[in-house]
Amino acid sequence: MGKVLIIGAGGVGTVVAHKMAELPDVFSEILLASRTKSKCDSIAARIGSKIVKTAQVNADNVPELVALIRSFQPDLVVNVALPYQDLTIMDACLETGVSYLDTANYEPLDEAKFEYKWQWAYREKFEKAGLTAILGCGFDPGVSGVYTAYAAKHHFDEIQYLDIVDCNAGNHGKAFATNFNPEINIREVTQKGKYWENGQWIMTEPHEIHQPLTYPRIGEKESYLIFHEELESLVVNFPTIRRARFWMTFGQEYLTHLRVIQNIGMAGIQPINYEGKEIVPIQFLKAVLPKPEELGVNYTGETSIGCRIKGLKDGKEVCYYVYNNCSHEAAYAETGTQAISYTTGVPAMIGAKMYLEGKWKKPGVFNVEEFDPDPFMKALNHYGLPWYELFDVDLEFD
Ligand code: NDP
Repeated sequence: MGKVLIIGAGGVGTVVAHKMAELPDVFSEILLASRTKSKCDSIAARIGSKIVKTAQVNADNVPELVALIRSFQPDLVVNVALPYQDLTIMDACLETGVSYLDTANYEPLDEAKFEYKWQWAYREKFEKAGLTAILGCGFDPGVSGVYTAYAAKHHFDEIQYLDIVDCNAGNHGKAFATNFNPEINIREVTQKGKYWENGQWIMTEPHEIHQPLTYPRIGEKESYLIFHEELESLVVNFPTIRRARFWMTFGQEYLTHLRVIQNIGMAGIQPINYEGKEIVPIQFLKAVLPKPEELGVNYTGETSIGCRIKGLKDGKEVCYYVYNNCSHEAAYAETGTQAISYTTGVPAMIGAKMYLEGKWKKPGVFNVEEFDPDPFMKALNHYGLPWYELFDVDLEFD
């Protein structure tokens, strides 16, 4: 039915390629391209399907991207490289007339700043070109937005309080490792916290607000308020929201390592001169940390990510919790990656499927909650991320 160019051959790219290759009626040809072609080749070899081809591309370079897109002529480009490449890939899509999907918002390399403003600025260009850009189609952002849209459509007249809760109760057996790209992960979790309340953003110190939360099948875990990009679009798209927050669990061991990394300057994102060569400390750190795509082999336990929502339906208060639990072992057995890559890659594949089937296709730049959540929710159950709903439960927040 459609040709897809996947850019990025890390943990997430591995899952996207695996899941797409299982649906040849939808994804008739897949080109997996990344900076290091050998990584694409080994993923393609593991999948072992004739429809997966590979290529080398530097996604920071628009002419290179344009040449690759022109030669392959995909219907959609799925960007699972790094957030730094979002704008160059969007530019190349505009130049070649191809639609776009990603899982993380653009970040400038020299500033850890999570804002949609750069990508939202492309709205008119995509609209005029008759192309679709689907932003943030992983789990969070991604499924978290679709869950919210589904809740708004089916269970609430007015969403008032939204808490996105993200727990990784897995154990990879390493003293310190990050579950997705270390550079992006450390930039994200070391920034100041931020949440939405009564029409404004409230800033907090990093990890200043925390409390134990109870996760299904897992139990109680200390959870920390951090800023996460989907909050920015959700409060715009659901303006009745009075308070929106994002919580993530961290173990004490992880936090201690993080503090040391920051204290000794290894989380720095500005280049330093080392023996006559410019290096960026966090990029050097990334090179010595375990690779996220290699964590899966001994990973045990589960993730649990969901939305806890309070609001009104027919004038009555409703407390609602929708979530998915994903097992690291099951994700590894199926795709050779751990659950964080799995829970990101499966929704990216589903978003691409929605686009190719015409269910999520309209000119412009959109966050996932701006599309019909129903076919996506159905597909989540079908492709490995089943979800569960709880009504009138204690949401553990006032
Ligand atoms: P990895 O670091 O494992 O993989 C990134 C891949 O992108 C690597 O193959 C890398 O190539 C490639 N790449 C980097 N720079 C370039 C470039 N200039 N040109 C071409 N390829 C490039 O990351 P993940 O797979 O863990 O994450 C992928 C994306 O998914 C990230 O944007 C991340 O933020 C996002 N994500 C989203 C989540 C969500 O729920 N929404 C959750 C987790 C991740 P090389 O191997 O040569 O370095």
